[in-house]
Amino acid sequence: MMNSRNQISEMLQKHGIRPSEQRIVIYHYLLDHRIHPVAETIYQELVSMHPTLSRTTVYNTLKCFEKNGLVIPLTIEDGELRYDVNTSLHAHFKCRKCNLIHDIFADDLTSSLPHPAAGYQVESMHLDYYGICPECAGKK
Ligand SMILES: [Zn+2]
Ligand SMILES: [Zn+2]
Repeated sequence: MMNSRNQISEMLQKHGIRPSEQRIVIYHYLLDHRIHPVAETIYQELVSMHPTLSRTTVYNTLKCFEKNGLVIPLTIEDGELRYDVNTSLHAHFKCRKCNLIHDIFADDLTSSLPHPAAGYQVESMHLDYYGICPECAGKK
C-alpha cells in the first residue's frame, strides 16, 4: 500500500504537484476511502481533524489532482461530481439500495474496448451499471 507520507509526497511530485500538507492530507483520504466521494464529503470528513482546511482548498486541490491525472472525475446520475483515485480503466456499478459505487474490473470489459491493434489509444472510459449489489442481494 502506498499510504505513507513520504510515498504520497513522492507521488504528488511525480505528477508535478508541490506536496503541501493539505494536498497530502486530501490524497491520503482518497487512498483510504475508495468510495468515490464528492468534494463536500471529503471536506466534512477532514475539517474536524484539520480545522485550517477550507472548502475552497479542497475543491481547488481536487481540480489540481484532476488536471495532473491523479484522480478521475465521475458523474454518476445524481449530478454530483465524484472523484476516483483509481485511474486505471474500469467500470462502475451503483447499487440503488445502499447507494455505494462499486469498481468493476472484470476482464470481460477489456474485450469491448477499442483494440490498440486497430490504432485506438484509450485514455478514459465511462461505463456505469445500475442495480443491486451482491451484499444487498444477500449473495455475500
Ligand atoms: Zn448495495
Ligand atoms: Zn472507480
